[in-house]
Amino acid sequence: MTTAVAPSTPLTAVDRCDRCGAQAYLRVELTAGGELLFCAHHAREHGDKLREIAAHVHDETHKLAATPAADSEL
Ligand SMILES: [Zn+2]
Repeated sequence: MTTAVAPSTPLTAVDRCDRCGAQAYLRVELTAGGELLFCAHHAREHGDKLREIAAHVHDETHKLAATPAADSEL
């Protein structure tokens, strides 16, 4: 089992939106350095702007599409 350095660490429940403190689903690595975290709401709100200043965007907002109601599909 090799331990590779992951280019993007998955977001977890402790990652919080820099704007409102909700759970973060989007991490933006800035071209200027540093990173920002956003919840799905603010990811949508600032999405276009963020992609202009981002070196890389790690987007996990698709996780929100998996609602508890979808469990029946498993
Ligand atoms: Zn937010």
